[in-house]
Amino acid sequence: MKYWSKITKTLTPYVPGEQLNEPGIIKLNTNENPFPPSPKVIEKIKKCLGSELKKYPDPESTELRNSIADFYEIEKDNVFVGNGSDEVLAHVFMAFFKDKKLYFPDITYSFYPVYCGLYEINYQTISLNKKFEMETKEYLNLDGNIIFPNPNAPTGIGMELDAIEKILKNNPGNLVVVDEAYIDFGGKSAVELIDNYKNLLIVQTFSKSRSLAGMRIGFAIGDEKLIEGLIRVKDSFNSYPLDRLAQAAGKAAMEDRDYFEYTRDEIIKNREWTISELRMRGMELLPSKANFIFVRVKDAENMYRELKARKILVRYFKKPLMDSYLRISIGTKEEMGKLIKNIDQIMGV
Ligand SMILES: *Cc1c(COP(=O)(O)O)cnc(C)c1O
Repeated sequence: MKYWSKITKTLTPYVPGEQLNEPGIIKLNTNENPFPPSPKVIEKIKKCLGSELKKYPDPESTELRNSIADFYEIEKDNVFVGNGSDEVLAHVFMAFFKDKKLYFPDITYSFYPVYCGLYEINYQTISLNKKFEMETKEYLNLDGNIIFPNPNAPTGIGMELDAIEKILKNNPGNLVVVDEAYIDFGGKSAVELIDNYKNLLIVQTFSKSRSLAGMRIGFAIGDEKLIEGLIRVKDSFNSYPLDRLAQAAGKAAMEDRDYFEYTRDEIIKNREWTISELRMRGMELLPSKANFIFVRVKDAENMYRELKARKILVRYFKKPLMDSYLRISIGTKEEMGKLIKNIDQIMGV
């Protein structure tokens, strides 16, 4: 295409999970939350649906950032917000990663290499060990910046905070970005380390543990100077990445702690139930601290297709090292019951 710039011709875009919206479909393929947003969120969004929409939203998302700061007992100036954590991550790559090499695990969130392509960043992957874990020692004293999710995706495996601290301590000249998209489902956030480690930036999202994937709200937490860098990039790109509805919804979601804890606990319970059911059937699973499980299946692609034919969508990655696994998001108790029943039928039990 003659109008495409050189860089556009080289891009390999990220491919998100299928969004089939047929009635009756059980969607366990994109790690969305099976619970609706808090009723208080819906109420707040309705209040925004008036003439105020003629006006631009707060470009600094002050109230939303304050609510995140309150939740984590930090300051507003330690918080950056963006249009989904994917956008926050894009700004992170632009703001901090352009000038040296970037390291991340070989099995991880597949958007990272895509951003490297977009921003022309040189990267190197580090292999997980045989148990699909990140080996802490492989991440010490590197000659470049580092990004990884905790828990990792699509494995679900979590990393202890003392391992993360060791990586931070042994990379004083490098930025370490921890993508905590799934941290609320059983891990411990690294937010408590930001005062001691100026080279730590944490990225989180409202899409998974706060049932707001459709609203597109993500955030980053770190030293003020890092946040200032992100704001510079954001204000060179889009002054208003979060609209009025998103800012109000995000604030209400952050403030409704009871609903957040209740839905999170339900998902953890459903995860443990699903794991024990699958183990009873002799299946191998990685230990998950996320709202999904990574399950080894004899013919994974076939199982994916058979489940889809039965209106259950799971995620299959046709990639080396991952192609004998399915990633299955944790839904409601009822949905997980149906999943198990259908797996039994497919396996002819
Ligand atoms: C889902 C996910 C994101 C993106 O979340 P959004 O806020 O919806 O853009 C980022 N990182 C990881 C590891 C994810 O799984």
